[in-house]
Amino acid sequence: MNTGGEVWRRRLRENVQRVRERIAQATARCGRSPEEITLVAVTKYGPAEVARALVAEGLADLGESRPQELWRKAEALADLPVRWHLVGHLQTNKVRRTLPLVQWIHSVDRPRLLAAIDAEAASLPRRVAVLLEVNLSGEATKHGWPPEAMEEAIQFAAGCRHLEVRGLMTMAPLAGGLAAARRTFAALRALRDRLQSLCPPWIVLTVLSMGMSHDLEVAIEEGATLVRVGSALFEGIDLEA
Ligand SMILES: *Cc1c(COP(=O)(O)O)cnc(C)c1O
Repeated sequence: MNTGGEVWRRRLRENVQRVRERIAQATARCGRSPEEITLVAVTKYGPAEVARALVAEGLADLGESRPQELWRKAEALADLPVRWHLVGHLQTNKVRRTLPLVQWIHSVDRPRLLAAIDAEAASLPRRVAVLLEVNLSGEATKHGWPPEAMEEAIQFAAGCRHLEVRGLMTMAPLAGGLAAARRTFAALRALRDRLQSLCPPWIVLTVLSMGMSHDLEVAIEEGATLVRVGSALFEGIDLEA
């Protein structure tokens, strides 16, 4: 009898429910609908077995921040209809192996990476959706374009015909709590609105990937269309990743 397994599965189900309720309440507060929000479950805190259980709970979008871990879990879950999102840093030498496994790359943060993805995507039967990561807090530890470089980034992306730039992604600053997170998310939305007016017709920046376990409500209030949630789903689940 695998009692231990039953315990974490029950806990996982409660965690998923709680996150869904938080999303529902946040959207209700600002007159939005939960269907507008894609919940990406970031699975980096647990093994493939938990990721599989998340899919069984109805979460079809899974994310990983490290390419190697994404490769491993994507292989382990190859029998499931998962949309994989790479949300963390991608080195150009890992593009070839990563691209066939992912539907979304959230963390495109330099022209060289755009070019590498574009070149590799040419041999895929579909286009890869990418988000441009913006570093709005200016923290040196964060990846992402500085906001003032975004016009140039869009111009460069406009020449990449094998990928689809679908929006922007950002991370809240480490300090400053929810107020600072809110300012950052509002700034990403304003930047998106300004950039959209400069985009060629084939680039439509509909996706705003912002908000994680601690600040997803604030992100939704500021216009997030996609939240990346890890630790809130793994609370109380102590399995080796
Ligand atoms: C880990 C991670 C998340 C999830 O963060 P939590 O605070 O655990 O919800 C989201 N986005 C990125 C880029 C991450 O690396």
